[in-house]
Amino acid sequence: MTPLCERNLSPHGWPDARGYYGPYGGRFVAETLMEPLAELEEAYRQAREDPTFQAELAALLCHYVGRPTPITYAQRLSAACGGAQIWLKREDLAHTGAHKINNALGQALLAKRMGKKRLIAETGAGQHGVATATVAALLGMECTVYMGCEDMARQAPNVLRMRLLGADVRAVEGGSRTLKDAINEALRDWAYSVRESYYLLGSALGPHPYPLIVRDLQSVIGREAREQMLAQAGRLPDILVACVGGGSNAIGLFYPFLQDGIEMVGVEAGGEGLASHRHASRLTGAPESRVGVLHGVRTYVLQDEHGQIAATHSISAGLDYPSVGPEHALLYEMGRVRYTAVTDGEALAAFQALARLEGILPALESAHAIAEAMRLAAARPKEAILLVNLSGRGDKDLDTVSAALEEGGR
Ligand SMILES: *Cc1c(COP(=O)(O)O)cnc(C)c1O
Repeated sequence: MTPLCERNLSPHGWPDARGYYGPYGGRFVAETLMEPLAELEEAYRQAREDPTFQAELAALLCHYVGRPTPITYAQRLSAACGGAQIWLKREDLAHTGAHKINNALGQALLAKRMGKKRLIAETGAGQHGVATATVAALLGMECTVYMGCEDMARQAPNVLRMRLLGADVRAVEGGSRTLKDAINEALRDWAYSVRESYYLLGSALGPHPYPLIVRDLQSVIGREAREQMLAQAGRLPDILVACVGGGSNAIGLFYPFLQDGIEMVGVEAGGEGLASHRHASRLTGAPESRVGVLHGVRTYVLQDEHGQIAATHSISAGLDYPSVGPEHALLYEMGRVRYTAVTDGEALAAFQALARLEGILPALESAHAIAEAMRLAAARPKEAILLVNLSGRGDKDLDTVSAALEEGGR
């Protein structure tokens, strides 16, 4: 089996020693958290080089998570688009139904290695909270999950899941009572309890070294996909497509292909359209997206004219976040990855197409990537191969989908 972390972790030269991806990244946190982050960086450096750690992680990814996840050629969907072949990397088939478990498991093992007994996480839609609660149960660790009370009401089944898994889910009443307030609360907890607690961050975001750790842990997706495409299609794909919330499933797929000169497309939440200002598109040139610092990292942030964090909107909770991982900010600036936006309506149509043509209910996040792939496939020749990261399954979104379909009269 391929070792989890390649010898040369940053063949492109980023992040640099200070945690920067070009002008993006870094570590913008309160003084009390500088030391814990330096300790984390050192612990991770050692774990990365330790074959025992890598073997333990590889065994659990295989026997507990169910990796490698398959690659499926979506024959009927491809035929319906009338152009290129659409292939799917099936992260929806990983335990707990999405890619998030890859990261949660790796970081929980790191926490254990660091002698921590408790995991702290924050969650918006609840998917990262569920993944963290799951690995905490598996490894016999305590788990506290912060969640905005607005989100708790919207995502009640995930709150129940986390509690059944033994997590202490704490309602955050402050601010907009959503993810960004939950993050502030989780950071506060960590600052007070850092000796026994590990802060388990859920996407390729936050202060250094989190974007690096999350990229490494999610790169298992791209490494598997490379081997699988060579075995099943006889060659590498021409285009990679993935949705971008914080950016972890996308960087996990893209990273192992970066040196191959393959075309890559990151798909953001276009919400009700970029002109409506109700979206979460940070890397498509929307006027409200400017470079700033949010939650410890310098990157593109959606903000109003006063520099306040802008309200965002998406039909998919996992893409509904005002900033994006620093490595994506750099890939955007370099023009290495093209970023585009898909609206709520287009994602919903792609959700229905994949359900009816392939028998797969995708997560609404993943449906954004499917929509872009359908668009691209129609314009490309039959020999072209598109590989889409199907980041999660749609069971969590059934209420949202049925309400939206009813509203749209579909
Ligand atoms: C959380 C989530 C996302 C968005 O997060 P990234 O870090 O951008 O991958 C995408 N798809 C699913 C299924 C998710 O749960």
